[in-house]
Amino acid sequence: MLIAAAATGAGAVIGIIGVLVIAALYFLPTIVATSRKVTNTGSVFVINLLLGWSVIGWVVALAMAVKSKTPQVVVMTSSTPLPACAKCGVGLTPGQQFCSNCGAARLINN
Ligand SMILES: [Zn+2]
Repeated sequence: MLIAAAATGAGAVIGIIGVLVIAALYFLPTIVATSRKVTNTGSVFVINLLLGWSVIGWVVALAMAVKSKTPQVVVMTSSTPLPACAKCGVGLTPGQQFCSNCGAARLINN
């Protein structure tokens, strides 16, 4: 009785471990994507979840998870310097015709 119970318990534990191992293998692409912090982790998860049962979907998800990270493009905002009053140097808003500080007429291209 005791042996039988222990055997059943061990069997249940092995079963749980087996399920966990299978689940870990199934969600390997998502795990890889999360650990690599790729930008398309969400897409990998969706493909993994919905198409992972097919080998192709699983491989696609894994391929997406291990793909090289897209380099972060630093957008250099080529902001033209704000126009400033030629007289007092106070910044002017585009379209402002007269300086709000000294009242001087705004010069073109300044
Ligand atoms: Zn001014």
